[in-house]
Amino acid sequence: MLEPDPRGVPAQREPTLVSVVAPMHDEEGTVEAFYERVRTALENVPFELVLVDDASRDRTPQLLDSLADSDPRAKVLHLSRNFGHQAAITAGLEHASGDVVVMMDGDLQDPPEVIPRMLDRWREGAEVVFAVRQSRAGESWFKLATARWFYRFFARVTQLELRENAGDFRLLGRHALDAMLSMRERNRFLRGMSVWVGFPQAAVPYERDPRHAGETKYTLPRMVRFFLDAMTSFSWLPLQAATLLGFVFSIAAFLGLPLVIVARVIHIYVPGVSSILFVVLLLGGIQLITVGLIGEYVGRIYDEVKGRPLYLVRSTRNLGRPAGAEEHREGVMAP
Ligand code: UDP
Ligand code: MG
Repeated sequence: MLEPDPRGVPAQREPTLVSVVAPMHDEEGTVEAFYERVRTALENVPFELVLVDDASRDRTPQLLDSLADSDPRAKVLHLSRNFGHQAAITAGLEHASGDVVVMMDGDLQDPPEVIPRMLDRWREGAEVVFAVRQSRAGESWFKLATARWFYRFFARVTQLELRENAGDFRLLGRHALDAMLSMRERNRFLRGMSVWVGFPQAAVPYERDPRHAGETKYTLPRMVRFFLDAMTSFSWLPLQAATLLGFVFSIAAFLGLPLVIVARVIHIYVPGVSSILFVVLLLGGIQLITVGLIGEYVGRIYDEVKGRPLYLVRSTRNLGRPAGAEEHREGVMAP
């Protein structure tokens, strides 16, 4: 189906340049296979690769550089230190020059062969096309269970229609991409942001592969961090829940007071230390949790207010500057 386009762009459009953005952190076993598979999958369309080396400690940087030397379509960004998955993707998105941009993991869990199908949806008028995992091979039951739980909880709390099992493997048209890059927040939950921007959205199903090589970099603490970032950047329901709890306990206290007085009057009142202790501990616990919750938000406000760049680039290849030139481009979006 063709979506009517308010900007008057012809309905059946062809991409001038497709940018494929992928972050790489210690992916030396995957770089070459990744390049080959993207090249084969996209042989019929003009494309560029924007590969972001998130301060890898293995041979990934050298492999990326030699890739850039052999093919000018491979653009490489070396970040000054490890900034993490979402920041690395953001760096790549900002340096992509295509009118269509695909963001995907650099470990070949997202098969490049799906991209042509995503492009078809874009040709039909979609601005955001997300790939939905039908299956996830080679991942632990723990990862699957936490992922499922996460999507359910997120949908309930934020009212943002995040499709279950749609990760960061997404295609964005220029309009959607520019809208996303104009969101300058530091705690970036990209898959939430790409839904938030709106525009016609479409889904493409695919089978998620196991990692090509290496190991997952999402350890449990990182997953918890990711979860908190996602929740706090799209909802203040946790703060409202704190208020609600406060009301519930205040009402309980007001109801309890007359009971105590009646008990006193008819002499059935027994001074109970343990019950008082229980209430004090319970309330103390809830208060601490609430303060901690507020702290999560305040910490993030502090982070945002400092306005530090999202990432720093150490050097680039094939990005229009002398190869390997030292530079410090800030990872803040151009105004
Ligand atoms: N990654 C990154 N920086 C990091 C951690 C991961 O750029 O600090 C990249 C990694 O190379 C991979 C992608 O992000 O291409 C997804 O990471 P991973 O496969 O470890 O996560 P999972 O698929 O297990 O959720
Ligand atoms: Mg992976």
